[in-house]
Amino acid sequence: MKVLQDLLELQSVDLRLNDVRTRLAAFPKKVAEVDARVAAAKTDLEQSKASQLATIKDRKKYELDVEQWKERVRKYKDQTSQIKTNEAYKALQHEVEMAEAEIAKAEDRLLEQMVAAEEYDRRVKASDKLLKEVEIVAAGQRAKIDAEKAQAEQEIAQLDAERSRVVALISENLLDHYDRISKKHHHVVLAEVRDEKCSACGMRVRPHVFQEMRRTNTEEMFHCETCTRILYYVEPTAAAAAAAARHPNSAPNDA
Ligand SMILES: [Zn+2]
Repeated sequence: MKVLQDLLELQSVDLRLNDVRTRLAAFPKKVAEVDARVAAAKTDLEQSKASQLATIKDRKKYELDVEQWKERVRKYKDQTSQIKTNEAYKALQHEVEMAEAEIAKAEDRLLEQMVAAEEYDRRVKASDKLLKEVEIVAAGQRAKIDAEKAQAEQEIAQLDAERSRVVALISENLLDHYDRISKKHHHVVLAEVRDEKCSACGMRVRPHVFQEMRRTNTEEMFHCETCTRILYYVEPTAAAAAAAARHPNSAPNDA
């Protein structure tokens, strides 16, 4: 039946359109994933730089601490000449020892900071290198996504044109009917009858309906009683029947 052939062609176009649209819909997520990887590498570099900066500030503070304690020791020593009593001398000596202990502590901290600074310098360099690598990979991935997107859009334009051509062959009523089933069953409107069953939902076709379907001159359209899809039947060709007879487990599948 000619109308069934037109409907099958329409379904084939719609299924391909659906595939391409599904592909197209996945692109924003892919782009977001690429952007997220670059953003993560940037955050990593910023954190490394912030740690490096904090270490430099700490180092300056400890350097200043060392200087201040040294200054205090110099002052104490200057006061020694004015000391009159043994007690006062001992007290001053104690202050000097305390200050020298503070110098030692500040110098230890300073050394720790200098070791840490080397580590942070290494981290900044590593993060910077990683970011550059991630950006190169991301640029390649974005270009690939853009090319795939352009390809998909071109396919959609071609399929839309093909759809317009096929739709023009089908009556408005039948098209409405097709669209209703299409919405319900995700673009699979027609189902081939195989082994006297609806190949989409597996429901058995009543024997008299099957007999009707096989009449070559029928103009009637048959629907699956369960899933409401439009049914069609392809008589197996002599070759396919022979092949099926030779390989009983591989039924002919050329719809
Ligand atoms: Zn069915």
